[in-house]
Amino acid sequence: MDINIARAVEIIQSANNIIALTGAGISTESGIPDFRSAGGLWQKYNPSEYATIQAFYASPEKVWRMLFDMVDLTRTAKPNPGHLALAELERMERLQCIITQNIDNLHQEAGSRNVIEYHGNVSRLECLGCGRLFDDAAFNMADVIASKKPPRCTGCRAILKPTVVFFGEMIPHEAMVRSQEAAQEADAVMVVGTSAVVYPAAGIPLIAKQNNAVLIEFNVETTDLTRFATDVFIQGLAGTTLPELVRQLKSS
Ligand code: NAD
Repeated sequence: MDINIARAVEIIQSANNIIALTGAGISTESGIPDFRSAGGLWQKYNPSEYATIQAFYASPEKVWRMLFDMVDLTRTAKPNPGHLALAELERMERLQCIITQNIDNLHQEAGSRNVIEYHGNVSRLECLGCGRLFDDAAFNMADVIASKKPPRCTGCRAILKPTVVFFGEMIPHEAMVRSQEAAQEADAVMVVGTSAVVYPAAGIPLIAKQNNAVLIEFNVETTDLTRFATDVFIQGLAGTTLPELVRQLKSS
């Protein structure tokens, strides 16, 4: 790990435009399981039954059974040292932006400012009936979870949906465009805690690579990206490896 972190430090020192792509793995140390972990949401809820937009239209009450658990998990989670290290890299003017697949708001809570939410954010709610948007602070989510009654639009009374991207939904247009531009302009990409199998997000490092960017991957285990595209693989918990990278950058 140390040799690879030293290589990553050299790359980051010489690069002009560094971006990060993060996935569920950066938040596991905040207590939010990733897709594949034992105890993760998808062991309890079949995604094709609970995470498609068609399922939400057909039975929002049923999908909210899964959403109550998702909201409950993310509502109390706090940023961990991995999130804080990326925020510090931005403050050091080494990181241009974070493209995150996570919907948990933890990068922003850690202090990162330039965050592109590729799959939305669980703390914003939308009405599919009349289009109104709500911050979840408008509802007492602890009470909502306890009551098991999904929040409703204050206008048309339809059941609200968190602005997370369900299977079958489009990636938010602005996030898609900004991410593509960031990938094309980057000369190094830090890929953190993602299995890199969910497209189009998984294509972002590949767009950068086609434009000659260097890929530095942080994961507890290898992925398809490691085998086919990664230049430097840093194995370990992101909550350990990212702070160590920042420490070495500061002392070099
Ligand atoms: P994933 O579950 O497919 O993969 C997670 C990856 O992170 C794995 O490769 C795993 O080895 C790695 N990992 C786990 N813990 C780690 C740690 N502490 N340090 C470093 N690596 C670690 O997740 P994904 O690639 O993000 O894609 C799946 C989808 O899951 C995304 O669309 C995302 O929106 C959604 N999701 C989000 C959250 C969240 O917001 N926190 C949680 C679960 C799933």
